[in-house]
Amino acid sequence: MLKSNPTATDCISMLEKLVAFDTTSRNSNLELIEFIRDELAAIGVESRLTFNDEKTKANLWATIGPSDKGGIVLSGHTDVVPVDGQDWSSDPFKLTERGGQLFGRGTCDMKGFVACAFTQAKKMLEADLKTPIHFAFSYDEEVGCTGVEGLIEDMSANLPEPLAVIVGEPTSMQIVGGHKGGHSYITTVHGIDGHSSAPQLGANAIFYAARILNFIEELSKRLKSTADPNNGFLPHYTTVDCGLINGGTAGNIIPAECEFAWGFRNIPGEDGRELAQEVFDFIEKNIEPELKAISPKAGVTHALRHDLSPMTPDETSPAETLLRHLTGLNQSGRVAYGTEGARFQAAGIPGVIFGPGSILQAHLPDEYIDISQMEECHDFLDKLVNWAKTNESIS
Ligand SMILES: [Zn+2]
Repeated sequence: MLKSNPTATDCISMLEKLVAFDTTSRNSNLELIEFIRDELAAIGVESRLTFNDEKTKANLWATIGPSDKGGIVLSGHTDVVPVDGQDWSSDPFKLTERGGQLFGRGTCDMKGFVACAFTQAKKMLEADLKTPIHFAFSYDEEVGCTGVEGLIEDMSANLPEPLAVIVGEPTSMQIVGGHKGGHSYITTVHGIDGHSSAPQLGANAIFYAARILNFIEELSKRLKSTADPNNGFLPHYTTVDCGLINGGTAGNIIPAECEFAWGFRNIPGEDGRELAQEVFDFIEKNIEPELKAISPKAGVTHALRHDLSPMTPDETSPAETLLRHLTGLNQSGRVAYGTEGARFQAAGIPGVIFGPGSILQAHLPDEYIDISQMEECHDFLDKLVNWAKTNESIS
């Protein structure tokens, strides 16, 4: 039951309910979404749902206040990362308080923010807002920020353009204006196997993979030397990684296959696709011809793993102006992890990342959020509601 004047304790009770839904990204999030939809319907607020192809997951969009204009979007993802193999001190899907901290999967990333936002719905409704507030609760954020794309498409096609989005990822209630992008692949070198005593009859997939990786590592040196050291990112340059490699079957067999995962975390201004193209060009020029000369069956293939553009900071954007005004903060940070803010920015909606809890606790066993962070978020949303009650634009 949503209350007219919810307290931080009500936000915590809501968090307890949300944590109890096991919305690990591989699962359906529909029970959680239907719970939110039904609670909103009970106070007369309609929700728009956008589904995945299998209809097993949904985003929820709801507007409180005037429906004929765009307002402030409170964006949160409903999915969480798995607890598989993690050692938890208490049931990860049962909110547990110890020493001023609330433990549970998703507490800081990021059901804490969703709970605080949603708990305010009735109060927002009764405040007779001049500027609407929208809820945008998504699925599949933890697997590449892909679920929210359906919501943004629906919003762009059918709804007034919002003024700004607040992405409530855990930033310890500090303003974050931008983040790096992510662009990664699984690449497979297909060689030709044979007895290791006769390498001239085969194509050693591991050696070819090593040459590609060597090129990728050299590329990382250039990216490091050309980036602006004062851009606020840590580290300040586009980073390159290779986190996984697999190849071969035995020490005395020429390996027929080698696959590796690699990619970029790119700063604004550097395009992950363009950087990847440099790698593809190198392969096309130097690796493929050699492989094909040995056998037309040999070659290199790539599968895109992840693609998210960077979120470019804009300290004069309406989103940042509003947040600075409401919080009194006068600076904004940069982070290296990706968020849905990049997807909203790509659709023309300016945003900031701003939410309770610390990213240092995200994805770990014994994930928690400080009660004080829930209180701070509750108080911030009170200020936002008061602002939206009397203001029609951001200046
Ligand atoms: Zn998150």
